[in-house]
Amino acid sequence: MALIVQKFGGTSVGSLERIQHIAEKVAQTRAQGHEVVVVVSAMSGETDRLIALARALGPHPDPREYATLVSTGEQVSMALVAMALLAKGCQARSYTGGQARICTDNHHKKARIMGIEADALKADLKQGFVPVVAGFQGIAANGDITTLGRGGSDTTAVALAAALEADECQIYTDVDGVYTTDPRIAPDARRLSVITFEEMLELASLGAKVLQIRSVEFAGKYNVPLRVLSSFQEGPGTLITFEQVGMEAPKVSGIAFNRDEAKVTLMGVPDKPGVAARILEPVSSGGIDIDMIIQNVAVEGIIDFTFTVHRDDYQKTLELLANVAQELEARAVIGDNKIAKLSLVGVGMRSHAGIASTMFTVLGKEGINIQLISTSEIKISVVIDEKYLELGVRSLHTAFGLGKGI
Ligand code: ADP
Ligand code: ASP
Ligand code: MG
Repeated sequence: MALIVQKFGGTSVGSLERIQHIAEKVAQTRAQGHEVVVVVSAMSGETDRLIALARALGPHPDPREYATLVSTGEQVSMALVAMALLAKGCQARSYTGGQARICTDNHHKKARIMGIEADALKADLKQGFVPVVAGFQGIAANGDITTLGRGGSDTTAVALAAALEADECQIYTDVDGVYTTDPRIAPDARRLSVITFEEMLELASLGAKVLQIRSVEFAGKYNVPLRVLSSFQEGPGTLITFEQVGMEAPKVSGIAFNRDEAKVTLMGVPDKPGVAARILEPVSSGGIDIDMIIQNVAVEGIIDFTFTVHRDDYQKTLELLANVAQELEARAVIGDNKIAKLSLVGVGMRSHAGIASTMFTVLGKEGINIQLISTSEIKISVVIDEKYLELGVRSLHTAFGLGKGI
């Protein structure tokens, strides 16, 4: 007998029919003698709908009320899934994040899980119940409802698996595993039967939304065996492994991309100590995260300074820079929010040279200009014009032999 956490994403609970289907799956796992804890997302499209409602009243909804509103999507699906299980004769009980005692800090829109008091869930399991827990939400110390950031139900599932010391955490979604790249962009993308934890962490942080990054961090921290599977078809899915990989690892395991960034450049600022800090200070004080940074070589004591931020923060960043630009007598502040970041990921890069030059050659042949570059041991990212993103992904996917060859 094993204890398995099964998480079902938006499309997997997208209709009553889908809910009945997954209830059948859960009931079957129970019938095989396993204990199951279910975690659910909101029905597909519901979270977007709720966010749009909030924004319709003003561009910056109050964070507390925002969390209270957008967490309701999961409450609907948890009750429906519990009802569907009960209708199949499978004992089940639904829990909001607060009822499941998923305790978080009070960052309502992107709260961190501080701890889980899992006694009630453990008692349910002992009595043969299937607890059905709302993903994406928790409770702050003052009782406020909090949410865990977009895609946060994955993190709920992995955190629960860690707290309950589950034998496996299964993430059911609309694809049957982790692919070499998003199959929606490259139709010949291949499912990986295993992927290392390190690679998954990079893919998730560079834009592959199949797993929320925090869920992968949790899995790593608590050694939770994690598998991505389809709720639409049977199959082994993709296992996230914690083993070290040797020299034989493929150079590139996957390609991730992200359309969420924007680029800002301060042109013609003095090349003096402290200038970079001076430019970035108002941006970080405004609570804005900075991703890539690039500064060109000085010409006659003058440099251009470029960095990227989340696209939602683009306007605010331009506003925050106005003063410092004046102070530093910058020639101009220019920006572009139609960019995309494209990244190659692979632990094999450590032992293979020349991947960057192949990447740049392939993009160059397609006439795609590279605007920014950043590298680490196991990834290379470039920023390009958004309109070339799909072409870039597909040509790199082919060039690095990632496809099925069809
Ligand atoms: P869910 O609603 O089940 O949480 P998501 O939409 O959050 O599902 O994540 C699944 C989607 O992630 C897939 O439909 C796919 O388009 C996208 N995706 C992006 N990169 C990858 C990848 N490398 N492998 C698999 N899916 C990916
Ligand atoms: N419903 C939330 C979202 O759409 C959380 C999730 O699905 O994981 O972001
Ligand atoms: Mg998701």
